[in-house]
Amino acid sequence: MPNDNNFEICSFCGRPKVNIGQVIENPNGSACICEDCIAICNDILVAEKNKTKSKQALKLPKPAEIKAILDQYIVGQDKAKEVLSVSVYNHYKRINYALEHSNKQKNKISDDVELEKSNVLMLGPTGSGKTLLARTLARILDVPFATTDATTLTEAGYVGEDVENILLKLIQNADYDIERAQKGIIYIDEIDKIARKSMQNTSITRDVSGEGVQQGLLKIMEGTIANVPPLGGRKNPTQECIPIDTTNILFICGGAFVGIEDIISKTQKDQIGLGFGSAKQTVSDVLAEIKPEDLTKYGLIPEFVGRVPIIVSLKELTEEDLIKILTEPKNALIKQYKKMMEIDGINLQFTSEAVRAFSKRAIELKTGARGLRNIIEQAMLPIMYSSPSDNTISKIILDAKNGKIDVTTIKQTGVDKKQKESA
Ligand code: ADP
Repeated sequence: MPNDNNFEICSFCGRPKVNIGQVIENPNGSACICEDCIAICNDILVAEKNKTKSKQALKLPKPAEIKAILDQYIVGQDKAKEVLSVSVYNHYKRINYALEHSNKQKNKISDDVELEKSNVLMLGPTGSGKTLLARTLARILDVPFATTDATTLTEAGYVGEDVENILLKLIQNADYDIERAQKGIIYIDEIDKIARKSMQNTSITRDVSGEGVQQGLLKIMEGTIANVPPLGGRKNPTQECIPIDTTNILFICGGAFVGIEDIISKTQKDQIGLGFGSAKQTVSDVLAEIKPEDLTKYGLIPEFVGRVPIIVSLKELTEEDLIKILTEPKNALIKQYKKMMEIDGINLQFTSEAVRAFSKRAIELKTGARGLRNIIEQAMLPIMYSSPSDNTISKIILDAKNGKIDVTTIKQTGVDKKQKESA
């Protein structure tokens, strides 16, 4: 309660002003509140709002709208974008339906139709946009997202990360709001690396640990109440675990599946007869024909393959794609570097030859778009190091001749041109 001494105590916690710093009084002067109480009220309000939000149906764009947003960030990969837009739309439509009809039996349209979730498997070379697609989808849908590398996971009892730790990352990214985490997206990279190595000849050698991890993942992917140790690491009987229902978590797996094209071609030949799968077919063409049995031949256990019914392949990015990636998306690297220099008052320009040189280098290095940042960073580092100290610079132009980057610096006082190392 306020006292006669001009609110010398907080009306909420009752502490005297000497101990609480700033207080805010209400307009008619009958009460006041201290900073600490304001912070506590704010936390309560945010938590309450989040609770209501996570219980509401998600605002779900239509597949074509999802694809249109993906187009703003991801170059090419049209087929993958379409397939993913439809699968996430269906996934969240199913969740929204269950929420809206929670008084009826969950996940059922009528008594005989059960809507099962469809996790997704993306095949494609490194740096072709698999992680970016999954991450962007989560952003579009405003759901929590976590990514993990399958090679870090181990079967229970071995040294490494427990499979449940992926769920912990998701919970953390949902600010410990379990309702929200239960509707999140998990991207598991390098799923091909946990294939049984010698699937074609299982009786001789078996890569048991890869299979064990697949079994562990299988459980959480098909939907279970998992108990997640809140501090991560191995499960520990003294730690109280967080229970989380994985039924509505969408799992997207990705991997390069090096060499699977040979298995696919062989399956095609066996089924259609020799001559099919002519030498003219590119690896991307062959990958587009993948069937679930090719994945089992590669070393994924049939139960696991059964849990990822949507399979889509991504194409290897071409030089032209990489040029587009550098220049076109909303957050394209070239735009980012230009912006960064603009903050220092410098107009940075890249000629089309320079952009092509960066793309060519990424193709040579076989890193896909993943290597582009490092390639540009190498060219930009000396510029970003020295230019902030020279306020006479007004413009910097990066050009390329014979794969070498030329840097021209235009100062208010004149032009300074020097050649850099190759891109
Ligand atoms: P992957 O998971 O297939 O190995 P990533 O999605 O991690 O590849 O790609 C690495 C980086 O390369 C991304 O962060 C993004 O900057 C860029 N990138 C890759 N593919 C594309 C694409 N198709 N369009 C735009 N940027 C891309």
